[in-house]
Amino acid sequence: MSQVVLDEIAPLTDAFQDAGKALYLVGGIVRDLYLDVPIEALDFDLTTDALPLEIKELVQPLADAVWAQGERFGTIGCRVGDRPYEITTHRAESYGDGSRKPEVVFGDEIVLDLSRRDFTINAMALRVARNAADAELIDPFGGAEHLEQRLLRTPMDPEASFQDDPLRILRAARFIARYDLAVDEDLRTAAKKLIDRMRIVSIERVRDEFDKLLVAPEPSAGLAFLEDVGAWLYVVESIPSNELVQLGVELNRSAVDVDLRRAVAFSHCSPASRAVQLETLRYSNVEARSIRLVLAGLDLVRDGSEAFDEQTVRRLVDRIGYGSLPLLLDVIAVLGVDDRGLGMRFRELDKIEDLSDLSPELDGESVMEILGIEAGPEVGAALGVLRQRRFEQGPISREDEVAHLLERYKKNR
Ligand code: ATP
Ligand code: MG
Repeated sequence: MSQVVLDEIAPLTDAFQDAGKALYLVGGIVRDLYLDVPIEALDFDLTTDALPLEIKELVQPLADAVWAQGERFGTIGCRVGDRPYEITTHRAESYGDGSRKPEVVFGDEIVLDLSRRDFTINAMALRVARNAADAELIDPFGGAEHLEQRLLRTPMDPEASFQDDPLRILRAARFIARYDLAVDEDLRTAAKKLIDRMRIVSIERVRDEFDKLLVAPEPSAGLAFLEDVGAWLYVVESIPSNELVQLGVELNRSAVDVDLRRAVAFSHCSPASRAVQLETLRYSNVEARSIRLVLAGLDLVRDGSEAFDEQTVRRLVDRIGYGSLPLLLDVIAVLGVDDRGLGMRFRELDKIEDLSDLSPELDGESVMEILGIEAGPEVGAALGVLRQRRFEQGPISREDEVAHLLERYKKNR
């Protein structure tokens, strides 16, 4: 196990040891150490038999910041240099029937703590020490072996686990995809049996899990699992489940980028259902808008038949926004859609004119002044004419626009 990590937390190790308290790295970080994940990418989660108040006292002298919002749940957060740590009193959680909110009971048993975790690969702890040789791996449920075998299992009975917290069914999909795991058959059966429990999971958590699944190197196996156990309906209902195999292929071949992969995924929702679906999943307005614009561009590309010329490129850029173009071109490439020359035309044009601003040089004020008219529909109409000229002809000087307006409107007065 990584000496670098132990060196980094040596001050914590010493402080807890001097106070006679046990301290463990726990959960995802132990799994990731096994998988040689680089230290920058690790989340430092620790657990201890010290109570939250004691944790606070122990870390105060060595941390640059301490936060205690999670204290009620037994967690103290702190930062040393650039590194955040979360230290939690071992816990034994019990769940009421209708809710995911754990009632926390503090225990002092690391094994009990590990038994309440989602999967065996996430249910390992490393009792820290100064030297790697002295650090003790606590792995009561065979997590290391399962990692080696690439197998996803729960530490205890999977039915009880999913009954307690059905979010774990979605987490399963994410881990299956991220680490290329096979699924224990009892786990699969339990997920199927308890799939109705998904209704108690908040939509924000569903969305977060979906996003995390999307950025697995190859999400397809996770999608297949969700489909198989009947969870898909609770995730993105408006992507038909018979398109999931195809979606999996597309996601697997796209770069690991959440914006790209979201756009690829939601391209499987019908244009009519997209906005509602994004809202249902409570994506932020900014995120939802960016997805919708890219997909509006995709619709335009798919619906037309003629090759893009300069004019149609400008209109498309104006419709979806200059910033959406690179993503649209990536989506088109991943989906294997015929772009009708859009990419080439766009890149050509982008070199010679400013596509990020397709508005006319003149604004409403200037139009009123030049034509000697008051605010009203005429101003809008004149601006509309200028916009169309900009799309048709490319950049136009202010003088040219003035001359055109005078010619077109003054004559008729
Ligand atoms: P990631 O690398 O995506 O952060 P992770 O395994 O670290 O994955 P977290 O959500 O950060 O996952 O949770 C940290 C640890 O807490 C997990 O490894 C697991 O031991 C435990 N855990 C998290 N969520 C649950 C849950 N819903 N049920 C049981 N244990 C959980
Ligand atoms: Mg984590």
